[in-house]
Amino acid sequence: MGKIRLWVTCRRCGRAFDTGRRMDRRSFERGTLAANYHTCPYCGTRETYRKADYQVKEEQPPSVREERPR
Ligand SMILES: [Zn+2]
Repeated sequence: MGKIRLWVTCRRCGRAFDTGRRMDRRSFERGTLAANYHTCPYCGTRETYRKADYQVKEEQPPSVREERPR
């Protein structure tokens, strides 16, 4: 049931960033994720990443809510 976030490391500047992709672990393991474009927020390089390039991070449990009351 764990949701995961997919991170990659920029090939140009070497910084890891969150791709914004979220999925459950099972989908990730089953999926192919052959070629996806992600833009590095630090240097702006747009690169293709494969499944093997992704770093899987567990989504934090929603103990801290970011929602603000209106
Ligand atoms: Zn970069």
